[in-house]
Amino acid sequence: MTPAIQMLCVSCDDTLQLAMERLQVGGKGIALELDAEARLVRVFTDGDVRRLLLDGTALDTPLERLPTRPFRSAPAGTTPGQALTLLDRYVIDHLPVVDTAGRLVDLFQRRDLSERIFLSSPHIGQDEQGFVADAFQTNWIAPLGPNVDAFELEMAGFLGIGHAAALSSGTAALHLALRLLDVGPGDRVFCSSLTFVASANPILYQFATPVFIDCEPESWNMSPVALEKALAAALRANALPKAVMVVDLYGQSADMDPLLALCERYGVPMIEDAAESLGATYKGRQSGTFGRLGVFSFNGNKIITTSGGGMLVSDDPDLITRARHLATQAREPALHYEHVEVGYNYRMSNVLAGIGRGQLGVLDQRIAARRGVFDKYREQLREVEAIHWMPEPEWSRSNRWLTTATLAEGIDPARVIHQLARLDIEARPVWKPMHLQPLFAGAAYVTHGDNHDCSATLFGRGLCLPSGSNMTAAQVERVADALRRALASA
Ligand SMILES: *Cc1c(COP(=O)(O)O)cnc(C)c1O
Repeated sequence: MTPAIQMLCVSCDDTLQLAMERLQVGGKGIALELDAEARLVRVFTDGDVRRLLLDGTALDTPLERLPTRPFRSAPAGTTPGQALTLLDRYVIDHLPVVDTAGRLVDLFQRRDLSERIFLSSPHIGQDEQGFVADAFQTNWIAPLGPNVDAFELEMAGFLGIGHAAALSSGTAALHLALRLLDVGPGDRVFCSSLTFVASANPILYQFATPVFIDCEPESWNMSPVALEKALAAALRANALPKAVMVVDLYGQSADMDPLLALCERYGVPMIEDAAESLGATYKGRQSGTFGRLGVFSFNGNKIITTSGGGMLVSDDPDLITRARHLATQAREPALHYEHVEVGYNYRMSNVLAGIGRGQLGVLDQRIAARRGVFDKYREQLREVEAIHWMPEPEWSRSNRWLTTATLAEGIDPARVIHQLARLDIEARPVWKPMHLQPLFAGAAYVTHGDNHDCSATLFGRGLCLPSGSNMTAAQVERVADALRRALASA
């Protein structure tokens, strides 16, 4: 028992007055009465004391004379996750822990246990500060610098791809990818519908027209069936797209072989939006290395972060050289400032690249942790038939950036999300597909099946659970418990 808990204890021959003082001084909203053998015999809350006083009990009454009242306790060995479940079930804020002889050994408090659990919060490692400190010591804060060069080389090395350009965001990388493929006003770009809006916004930056492509139920990613339908129709209309933007959703690669074969057959380059899938593989090869250009994000919620940043990768050195040029205001090599085309301020700073180098060093651990979170959810909720986890086809090794699932028909994910929110747990629906967004009202959309809008179905039934690599086992357990109860009452 800790001194802080000892401060809350009174004995049977103490008075009600002392119990009130302990309540006051302990500041935890509880006092605990122990007998001569240190067994817990009574729990006082403010409400209990108020009731006794209203009943006319005198302040100098010895506690042993008070009528007994039942109280909740938990056995030694109770985990924090189990404790929180009990607090929720009994609608109480304190749970004393007693050994087999009934002696007080610990006290769980809601305040300590119910820290908010986020969907995906940043998880910084040991080495980032060293790289950042180097940047400060050499006064190489911005722009560019040795951390940027090293981060690009290390990313390219990790991915097994020729070239990489570190940028200010994943969105910036996507925008440059479109520019590099000459996408301009009036051009068409095919794009996964089930994604975050950042995949599609740059199409509008270039005044091009998006055509949205449905996903397939096997991977939740772009359906080769839908892409084939869309390309065949575009060819007939003499309106082939300038690029196909394929998203690797929630950490899982799309089915690249058939998608790439289609892009090749129709002569359309692929941009791979791998913002969520760094470290995932498709048939053993790194996600993000399949398209003519690949894009990663280091936003705060991604599997590794630079606080904000992105990377554009390609095997074509000319594309990446040109990307660096466009990302630095398209400044020509002249002593004065000479410009012949429009450019952007899209490069990553040397300080943030330092964070990225440290994060890349622990990427494998982060993937193992996220996959571990998923495994724990699946294990703890294996008997819950209403949950169907996002599938992982045999050709895929997902980084499980987010643990996602669909709920059985008839269960409203929004209701479940609200119920979890009341317990300080952040869950989210699956991305609202782009073809359902007011921003893209009227955009063309090609479905997977003739009468089957797979993206809309996943949106209607999908749920994303807290999945951070820094979640404790007790936190995963707490979410699983809360979800089980929310579904039981749904
Ligand atoms: C996060 C994300 C992006 C954008 O990356 P930023 O670095 O936030 O600009 C693009 N596409 C997808 C699918 C994403 O999840």
